[in-house]
Order: sequence, then structure tokens, then C-alpha cells
Amino acid sequence: MRNRNLSIVIIVIMAVVATSALALRCRYCEGGTTVTCAYCDGNGKVDCNYCGGTGEITCDFCEGDEYMRCSDCFGKGKIKFNGDTETCTTCNATGRIVCEYCVAGKMACEMCGGYKELTCVICGGNGEVTCGACGGTGQREE
Ligand SMILES: [Zn+2]
Ligand SMILES: [Zn+2]
Ligand SMILES: [Zn+2]
Ligand SMILES: [Zn+2]
Ligand SMILES: [Zn+2]
Repeated sequence: MRNRNLSIVIIVIMAVVATSALALRCRYCEGGTTVTCAYCDGNGKVDCNYCGGTGEITCDFCEGDEYMRCSDCFGKGKIKFNGDTETCTTCNATGRIVCEYCVAGKMACEMCGGYKELTCVICGGNGEVTCGACGGTGQREE
């Protein structure tokens, strides 16, 4: 088994030497000096883990409730005015108003801006990284 492997290696080396007498082409990047970024699979983008790839997060202001406490009547639905109790017109006596910061309790993810993806930090969005096996030279000594 050991001898067989060794002879295969020798054949491969001979074949490479025959085409390139000076240096061996790096077999990881095939001489191209860069390899596909494994972190993003070459897409240059990764799913935003802050929002779980949905592009939305629960609204901070209403905690996903869609409604906020009315600030005019402090949620009571009524306002005391000159000794009289009046109905709060801001919230229509409900004591709550529709949250102005979100849509149905959800807001765009602040990390990805609602795009669901982030630029890959490993490759900077290129989808390619410098080949670690040859240090980006494209050539490698065996
Ligand atoms: Zn990447
Ligand atoms: Zn909200
Ligand atoms: Zn009110
Ligand atoms: Zn996000
Ligand atoms: Zn390489």
C-alpha cells in the first residue's frame, strides 16, 4: 500500500515537472493565487445572524406590540383639564397609539439594513481569499 502511494506521488511529480521545470503550481489555487472563500462559499455575502437572515428585528420601542402607550394621557385614555376629565383625542380614549417606529411590531434589521445579508468579513465581499497554502504566490515547493 505504501509503495503504491509512493509511486503515484512520483508519477504526479514527474508529470508536473514535465510541464513546469522551475516550480510546482500550487494545487490549492491551481496557480491562481486565490481560493474561494470558505466562509461565504464564494458569495461574498453571509446571512445576517443578528436577524437570523429575515431582515427584520422586533421593534425596540413597542417590543413587537405594534402599539405604544399614549404619551399624552399616559395610557389612561383621559386627560384632566381645568378640573374636568376629558377624553384623550390623541389615542381616542384607547390609551395607546400605533407605534410610529415600526410596521406591525417589526423594524428593519440595523445590522444588515433589511437586506438579510452582510458582506463577508473574511474576504471583504470578494468571494476569494489569498491562498494560504502558497501564501498567494501560486507556486509551491513540495
Ligand atoms: Zn467570504
Ligand atoms: Zn414598534
Ligand atoms: Zn391618550
Ligand atoms: Zn440583519
Ligand atoms: Zn496557492
